[in-house]
Amino acid sequence: MFKSLNSKLIALMLIAAILSLKPGQANGQAGIVVENARADVMFGRTITFTAKITAPIPIKQVSLLFRSLNEEVTRVETLQLAADGTTSFTYDASLNVFPAFSRIVFWYQATLDDGNTYTSSPNEVVYVDNRFTWRENTRANVIVHWYAGDDAFGAAALDAAGAGILAINEIYPVALDIPVHVYIYSNIDDLQATQQLGGVEWAGGHAQPELGIVLVSIAPDDSQKINMETLIPHELAHVMMYRALGDAYFKQPIWLLEGFASSMELYPNLGYDEALNNGSASGNLIQFTDLCASFPAEAGSAFLAYAQSESFVKYIRGAYGNGSIAKLTSAYGEGLTCDVGTTKALGIPLNQLDSRWRETELGQNVTAVAVRNLSPYLLLMALVLLVPIWGAIDFFIQWRKRG
Ligand SMILES: [Zn+2]
Repeated sequence: MFKSLNSKLIALMLIAAILSLKPGQANGQAGIVVENARADVMFGRTITFTAKITAPIPIKQVSLLFRSLNEEVTRVETLQLAADGTTSFTYDASLNVFPAFSRIVFWYQATLDDGNTYTSSPNEVVYVDNRFTWRENTRANVIVHWYAGDDAFGAAALDAAGAGILAINEIYPVALDIPVHVYIYSNIDDLQATQQLGGVEWAGGHAQPELGIVLVSIAPDDSQKINMETLIPHELAHVMMYRALGDAYFKQPIWLLEGFASSMELYPNLGYDEALNNGSASGNLIQFTDLCASFPAEAGSAFLAYAQSESFVKYIRGAYGNGSIAKLTSAYGEGLTCDVGTTKALGIPLNQLDSRWRETELGQNVTAVAVRNLSPYLLLMALVLLVPIWGAIDFFIQWRKRG
């Protein structure tokens, strides 16, 4: 028991020591030679890391370290070396999933007989979804990839991306110095198998803004154009907003991120109007203060949240000008809370902005409703105030009588 605890502790300390080292640091790599380092991906199944590692003196222990570029956790595997120094490790990618198209960095670390530890320089592999034979077409650093559909399908997707970028550019100047990749799956099952949806975006698209990657599900059929002009600009908006804001992107309220992205869709979503009107009539609209940290998980409420956010962002742009969106993202980027952000950017707290939106866009008479809701309290307040007033009058009369 004690022994195993002790060895666990040593293992933990080792991992901590390893994690504190950046690849390529340690004692340099003078002590080991790593040749033919490669990683072969079978998407959703395995990643096989192979290399040949040699050193002038015997190698006591050698490890493979790897992680996705945007994760904190580094995986560490102890390896067996063959007599000629070759090594192979197969990672089970069906259990421990990396996001599709993420970049995986890997390196080797070896402890030699002299007790020194040496670290190789890092290598990188893209975790490509190679279940499909992707075709691609490029325009101005926008690369579309698809596996179902003809040449015209790919060209139409590029057109949709271009139209979306023009619209996004009105709010955030679009920098295309870094490529952006649009992967078009032909059905939702193939897309969902990328394991990226996780309840984040359920409507047939997903963006990995830090990776400059957009994944959408669009079948080659009669409605492909509408689907392209809806889904692709929405997801590109997430990527471009991230590029404009950097890490401040992650401080934004969800209603602003999704409202902006939805407002970039080139076709109005007919279902949104209906959801808004029904929500308004039944009193089931969601307060925007409840759409800051996350969207509802339940599909119907999530749909309403998208509909509201899109309408809200369009209302803000109309009432406060196109520049209002950048003012908002800059206020939230400073770390202001959801309510204070609108106050700083637009001079109005979020709940009041919510009321104005309901009045202007949905014809609700929020002020009258508020007064009506308030009236029982007003009556109560009057009673509460009357008692001391009567008391004061009584006291005054008594005082007068004495005087
Ligand atoms: Zn979105």
